[in-house]
Amino acid sequence: MTVFRSIRWRIGIVFAVFVIACISGLGVYLSQRAGDESLGVNLVIVIGDVIAAIIAILLAFQILRITTEPIKKLTHLSRKVAEGELELDQDFQITSRDEVGELATAFKQMAARLREMVALITNERDRMATILSNIDDAIFMVGSDSKITTMNRAAENIFQVSEKKALGHTFIEAVRDHEVNGILQRCLSTRKQQTGAVEIKPKKQSLTIIATPLPGDGGCLMHIQDLTELRRLEMVRRDFISNISHELRTPIASVKALAETLNEGAIEDTAVAKDFLNRINVEMDKLAQMVQELAELAHIESGETPLNKRRVNMADAIGHAVDRLRAQADRAGLNFDFVIPPALPEVMADESRVEQVLVNLIHNAIKFTTSGGKITISARARDTDILVSVADTGSGIPADDLPRIFERFYKADKSRSGGGTGLGLAIAKHIIEAHGGKIWADSVERKGSTFSFTLPLEQKA
Ligand code: ADP
Repeated sequence: MTVFRSIRWRIGIVFAVFVIACISGLGVYLSQRAGDESLGVNLVIVIGDVIAAIIAILLAFQILRITTEPIKKLTHLSRKVAEGELELDQDFQITSRDEVGELATAFKQMAARLREMVALITNERDRMATILSNIDDAIFMVGSDSKITTMNRAAENIFQVSEKKALGHTFIEAVRDHEVNGILQRCLSTRKQQTGAVEIKPKKQSLTIIATPLPGDGGCLMHIQDLTELRRLEMVRRDFISNISHELRTPIASVKALAETLNEGAIEDTAVAKDFLNRINVEMDKLAQMVQELAELAHIESGETPLNKRRVNMADAIGHAVDRLRAQADRAGLNFDFVIPPALPEVMADESRVEQVLVNLIHNAIKFTTSGGKITISARARDTDILVSVADTGSGIPADDLPRIFERFYKADKSRSGGGTGLGLAIAKHIIEAHGGKIWADSVERKGSTFSFTLPLEQKA
């Protein structure tokens, strides 16, 4: 019945039964006082009263039970929600259609909405966390008490401090640099954006810093960019331009001087003129070689030269490269030694490019080794690649220069550079890396150098 669906109605009915019982009881009492002796009628009314009172009590208990049961359930569920559990569907079996039922439905909707909002916030938080952990710039969120509340992986890397150690600690404790901390403190006290450029020790990292006040809690967001690599590249570019100008200026100046001397009369002396013309020729060859190597390097760097890969027998490639340079090695009084096993697996590579690398390494070994020295060429297969080495007993490379010799135009000892362009190793590095391999050098000054490279073996299916 509809009336039982409302607590108000239920209480009303209990109340009505109770009132009827009271009125009829009062009636009996008054008629007794008035001396009405109709005992039979009064007895009927008294019995009716008792029955009405019992019904009222039973109804009251029943209503209490029906009403409090879902409320108890609701209280239990509210506690669960308060504890953060929002998956209520299974437990949520309140079916009553009274006010408590309505409350339960509203509660259910609220929990669903809460769930949606929590999912949205979690999603947003995960997105932010992904962005934060994947950007290269360091991010710190710092509270008004200078304590770090959030930081990302880049911040850990730049300042060499783990998130675990830094969170909850003051900014200065984590970054250990007063200049960087000064920018934060200015932001915290002025509540205005502050910027600065700082070089931090010990790795001499160049940082640019932007401190922005955060709305609300009085804290600041620290955005720190590490420009060290950019600065290094800028330096490499500047070095490159200064090197190329220097390298071009030297032969051009020689040619100009020789031509002027010829013009001033040396041309009359046939022997001198011939010698000068030969020297001009040599200088022009150097220039031509440099221009050709530069063009080649630019080409390889742009990735426009596709590798013409096919099966290459490394022993054959080494043989071809040595054949091209044997006469030169003989003239320099150098011997070759080979450590190459008979069954060397083939690699997929651009044979002419691999030969070019070998020629460059062997040519350098010849240039930088004095007469009577030895050049040892070895090759061996490893798990996933082939390792090739060209070792000499020559001048070696100073430890300071060793990490830079693969840079364009870099020459370890300019006075002994043997007239090279300084581009050969840069080209070799590009070629080997384009094949998925690695190239490096080990050297001890005055003892000799070993240049090694790897080429990946074809993976067996
Ligand atoms: P280049 O030989 O034309 O100068 P490279 O790029 O081939 O240019 O080599 C760069 C520099 O590395 C050389 O100028 C030299 O200083 C150093 N180098 C290369 N190979 C050797 C070697 N086998 N022994 C000593 N120094 C070497």
